[in-house]
Amino acid sequence: MASGTFRTPKGTSDVLPEDHQYQTYIKKAVRHRCRQAGFKRIDPPIFEKTSVFERGIGQHTDIVEKELFLVKSHHTDEGEPEEFALRPEFTAGICRSYIEHGMKQLPQPVELYSIGPCFRHDRPQKGRYRQFHQFDLEVIGLHDASLDAQLIHVINKIFKDLRIYDRLTMQLNNIGTAQNRKDFVAALKDYFIGKERNLPELDRTRLETNPLRLLDSKEEDTQILLKNAPTLDQFIDDESKQYHETLKEYLDALGATYEENPYLVRGLDYYNQTVFEYWDNDTGGKNAVGGGGRYDPLIEMLGGEPTPGVGFAGGMERIIYQMKQAGVQAPHKDQIDIFVAQLGPEAKKMCLLLISQLRDLGIHTLGALGEASLKSQMRLADKFQAKYTLLLGQMEVKAGTIILRDMAAGKQQEIAFKEAVPTIVKLLGEDSLDTYTLNDKFEEEE
Ligand code: AMP
Repeated sequence: MASGTFRTPKGTSDVLPEDHQYQTYIKKAVRHRCRQAGFKRIDPPIFEKTSVFERGIGQHTDIVEKELFLVKSHHTDEGEPEEFALRPEFTAGICRSYIEHGMKQLPQPVELYSIGPCFRHDRPQKGRYRQFHQFDLEVIGLHDASLDAQLIHVINKIFKDLRIYDRLTMQLNNIGTAQNRKDFVAALKDYFIGKERNLPELDRTRLETNPLRLLDSKEEDTQILLKNAPTLDQFIDDESKQYHETLKEYLDALGATYEENPYLVRGLDYYNQTVFEYWDNDTGGKNAVGGGGRYDPLIEMLGGEPTPGVGFAGGMERIIYQMKQAGVQAPHKDQIDIFVAQLGPEAKKMCLLLISQLRDLGIHTLGALGEASLKSQMRLADKFQAKYTLLLGQMEVKAGTIILRDMAAGKQQEIAFKEAVPTIVKLLGEDSLDTYTLNDKFEEEE
């Protein structure tokens, strides 16, 4: 175990280089599939006024009631006595942005995606962290089941690209309108009159504040009581039912598979009609890999004109876990091609330029520019797993040569110094060079 005084805060972790290989791979798949489907990137701030989340997500949801990280500052700007909170998810912030920037004026639907960290002060456990990373897709401005179907299809493609689609089952439900749920909740409350004492304490509170949450309660006592309780589907209006049937037809047409789950409600207040989650086939709903749904009332709840929307968020850490379980290796470009070793002031100067030239050609190059012996520089080259080493000592400088060593074969040869770069390019192959121009690699944004 490493020493030192400081540790990352509970529930957070450093995204180390090997984790970035996976994150970069996921981001690439997300960007690629999003661009193909006309989505544009947006990055709302990492913190917002707390009221954006309170109004957007719902005051009596776990996320807002218990899990918000409040942001404290030593100063309060004049006229700005607001509280701020770190974003627990993207949707509320993106919808705030849609209203703030008048995106209603743009051709609809507005398709936006985002990738970045989110924060929830939950009890940390496997798959549940206080800082985690989401990618998020939102389709705002139109109410049509074909949009829900298309969104789900884009997500399916991302999971297929990442080779975890077969490990997941999409759970699908229709939770109707806010009025449907209000009627259902009233009936549920009626049903529980006189039965409250049999509910675990947490669920007794939920019955008061957010009775829908009882449906996905993990408590056995609650589950038993729910068996005879009224069910949500008895309260769904005909239009929502029709919407759901149409969505399923579209999903079938696209070959998207799903499992109907009448108990899926999702934890947030803003959803209506379509809700869906991706569960891994072994552990079910405990560590959903992603989830989303339709949120037609949200933009109005945030103070905008009534504007429908549908969205999805996937959790990167849980996706990475699934990829590792499936034995998926994230391809990466972090390998070292060339290690340059040198001895003597003249050689060192020449190597500085040589290293720069190699790098410019797209060759991943490291140099030992300290004053270590050649032997220890060679050991370093080995540790960095360089494919080839170029060695320039005082003798070689005088002779106008350089030594080229094939590290795997353990063989070396002396070549003309000016031949070093073209020889390396030939050995590595033009195709493997890591080159880019700013034009064609704009996608490398973080
Ligand atoms: P939600 O909208 O709460 O269902 O979140 C969407 C996705 O984000 C989930 O399916 C998870 O993959 C991920 N997620 C949510 N909360 C956490 C957390 N505390 N730690 C890790 N991933 C999370």
